[in-house]
Amino acid sequence: MTFSIHGLPVARGIAIGRAVLVVSSRIDVAHYFIKPEEVEAEIDRVRVARNGVAEELQKLQASVALMGPNDAPHELSALLDVHQMLLQDEVLTTGVKHWIVERLYNAEWALTTQLEIVARQFDEMEDEYLRERKADLEQVVERLLHRMKGTAAVLAPPPPKRKRAAEHHDEDHADPTASEAFDAPLVLIAHDLSPADMLQFKKSVFAGFVTDVGGRTSHTAIVARSMDIPAVVGARSVSQLVRQDDWVIIDGDAGVVIVDPSPIILAEYGFKQRQGDLERGRLSRLRHKPAVTLDGQRVELLANIEMPEDTLGAVKAGAVGVGLFRSEFLFMGRESQSKTRLPDEEEQYEAYRRAVDGMQGMPVTIRTVDVGADKPLDGKAVRDDAHLNPALGLRAIRWSLADPAMFLTQLRAILRAAAHGEIHLLIPMLAHVSEIRQTLSLIDFARAELDNRGVAYGHVKVGAMIEIPAAALTLRTFLKYFDFLSIGTNDLIQYTLAIDRADESVAHLYDPTHPAVLRLVADTIAECRRQGKGVSVCGEMAGDVVFTRLLLGLGLRSFSMHPSQILAVKQEVLRADVSKLEAWAREVVDAEDPAAALAR
Ligand code: PEP
Ligand code: MG
Repeated sequence: MTFSIHGLPVARGIAIGRAVLVVSSRIDVAHYFIKPEEVEAEIDRVRVARNGVAEELQKLQASVALMGPNDAPHELSALLDVHQMLLQDEVLTTGVKHWIVERLYNAEWALTTQLEIVARQFDEMEDEYLRERKADLEQVVERLLHRMKGTAAVLAPPPPKRKRAAEHHDEDHADPTASEAFDAPLVLIAHDLSPADMLQFKKSVFAGFVTDVGGRTSHTAIVARSMDIPAVVGARSVSQLVRQDDWVIIDGDAGVVIVDPSPIILAEYGFKQRQGDLERGRLSRLRHKPAVTLDGQRVELLANIEMPEDTLGAVKAGAVGVGLFRSEFLFMGRESQSKTRLPDEEEQYEAYRRAVDGMQGMPVTIRTVDVGADKPLDGKAVRDDAHLNPALGLRAIRWSLADPAMFLTQLRAILRAAAHGEIHLLIPMLAHVSEIRQTLSLIDFARAELDNRGVAYGHVKVGAMIEIPAAALTLRTFLKYFDFLSIGTNDLIQYTLAIDRADESVAHLYDPTHPAVLRLVADTIAECRRQGKGVSVCGEMAGDVVFTRLLLGLGLRSFSMHPSQILAVKQEVLRADVSKLEAWAREVVDAEDPAAALAR
């Protein structure tokens, strides 16, 4: 039966595919397709792991038997029996085999897919004792996954080009044949995904994703936008309502998820999908066109990136530089790959240098680390209850100043990379003049350290993000100390309106057109222009074509956004006549209901 679920649109386009349910804690499990000739070997990897775990459990049993009743309660032995039973469970073993043979999933993926199916069956059990066995099953699977580490023949090769559902599957969507099912794109359904999960996701095979929680400018949504795949967040109970392998349409423009679509709906969305592709093709012709308005105003369109490799997409989209390199993504989700918790100076230097090289002589703005709030380092504590208001806590520059050695390491790495190309250094979340002074003296200190070591470094312009109302209201102080400012509208909206940007339950109140927000943005642009200082917007507003004319009218000439948004914004720029927008933009800012004025 077809039904739809509404959420928040975060990344444009339509994805049609089969649902893969994944829990956040297991998203770091590799998802890739094996070759048909690797099926036997993959099944063997599971068998070897299962034998290994069985032996492990037997040894545990034996040691428990040797303990006295005071050291090992009777329940422990019973529990190990249950784990042995679950390990050999028919549903688990045949299910895993099915995903490997029929769909060519790698073993880990097959295992977690089957785990989701069986776990749901446990959830639906009436008997409480049986229901609670789900946790045991999860532990058994964790043991298997642990055993399989390092035994994979390949590490996530690039996904094969997959057909679209509508291309091969427009008649009989409810019961596709095995070969059609194998060919179908896959969409990921999860309760939540942390930004660190998203880094894994970037390397995987999925054509789109949906989560129960999250707001439009949560960092998970931001990474989705950077990947340019359709996504919906805040879809409440989607992970409960969708079953493994269901056909799903993700409408990233409208924020709607359609489950088990009828042939008519499928055909309609297939058509929409093709229209989107045509529009993208049309826009790509603007790539080499300079972004100049009808009345001759030059506009700088820059890219927001998370990883040095993203510069490839930035250059391809025609960006004239990087306006925001969110360096914290180098610091996230590292435990599984690296022994050290944080990247050292050398590793960071190499990464920043790669970004500089990738931009081929164009400037790169590197923002110092901004972890905390909805960007935990390990991706586990997406909502950390230990900190009641993580968005108001030890985040961004506060985190850096609390650990000067870590901060100096990053500063030295950035300064060294600046010897290879133009780098602008951007500081997030400043509010106090004391923080400004401390930051600038640490930058001086980093330079002095490099001098003492005799290491080459380059000149950097230093800028501040304006993302706390306190900063926007003390611009003169900021302009006294900094070479340029960059407006982070995502946080500026969050902190002006007291709306957690990652919380879907208040997402309807997260309003970029609130008069208070627009006033702060307008004043910041105007003051920078008056003082002849560079100013840019690097929050999501910069990439939203709804706001392009307004921001141009307010005097903005530098926009930084995901590469996937650059061409659409450029099209707006090319159609704009700024001389006619200025008075209108002031009216919008002064209106009681700017959203209505904006639409006029
Ligand atoms: C912002 O706050 O607008 C911004 C660009 O920074 P981030 O989204 O990384 O907090
Ligand atoms: Mg911010």
